[in-house]
Amino acid sequence: GDQRRGGTQQAIQMPGVRAIVAVASGKGGVGKSTTAANLALAAAREGHRVGLLDADIYGPSAPRMMGVSGKPELTEGKRLIPKEAHGIKVMSMGFLVDEDTPTVWRGPMVQTAIQQMLRDVEWGELDLLIVDMPPGTGDAQLTLSQQVPLAGAAIVTTPQDLALTDANKGLNMFRKVDVPVLGFIENMSYFQCPSCGERHHVFAEGGGRREAARLGTELLGEIPLDIVIRETSDGGNPVVVAHPESPHAAAYGNIARRI
Ligand code: ADP
Repeated sequence: GDQRRGGTQQAIQMPGVRAIVAVASGKGGVGKSTTAANLALAAAREGHRVGLLDADIYGPSAPRMMGVSGKPELTEGKRLIPKEAHGIKVMSMGFLVDEDTPTVWRGPMVQTAIQQMLRDVEWGELDLLIVDMPPGTGDAQLTLSQQVPLAGAAIVTTPQDLALTDANKGLNMFRKVDVPVLGFIENMSYFQCPSCGERHHVFAEGGGRREAARLGTELLGEIPLDIVIRETSDGGNPVVVAHPESPHAAAYGNIARRI
């Protein structure tokens, strides 16, 4: 559409990258970054060349989740070389700013930082670049979704009504700029009791599926609330890598095949 390709926003070219998919959320804390990392790793397990761009400037989590840190090396042409972790390429704002520096960005600084992350990274040849978007639907998110040539966006939500309302806002933002919404991913869908095996729907049941249907989009998958998912990603070794034969890894794999 005109708004995406024309106007004041210049679309950024990433010639070596075959498909760029955004993982977004209407609000923070729903597990967007965890989902983005595990999907990237699941796609790599399928044999794809994958990159993960942690564009969550407010709370970059890729360094911790992927277990990589430090300033990136530069090419002779002064382009940033992504780090390698668990077989994928990773770039994060967390590599560029000091972890102890509170990242209180002013609007223009956010734009400049995002620009560098988009224009100056030497990805090489990739089949898939997953962009871990900043949470929410503000200006930074809108600009990003206009400038990056996104093949599509997957929206992470938890099952509560409020989260679903925010997911709906995310969906509308992408539709406004003509980025195809691939569907919702319901995270923390249920808790499976380790002793009795019963599934407890801690927040609500079926919200993601219902809301996706109502809004004319897909439910790409459901990921349970599980301490293993938290511990592995907080420890720099996401569940897809730490427990490749687990049902969680299979669930991420099924979603990765649909994006
Ligand atoms: P966001 O990117 O949406 O802010 P994160 O991915 O950083 O959210 O997740 C927030 C916290 O919740 C992290 O500590 C993460 O490990 C945890 N978490 C995310 N998804 C799950 C899950 N399915 N089960 C258990 N913990 C999870």
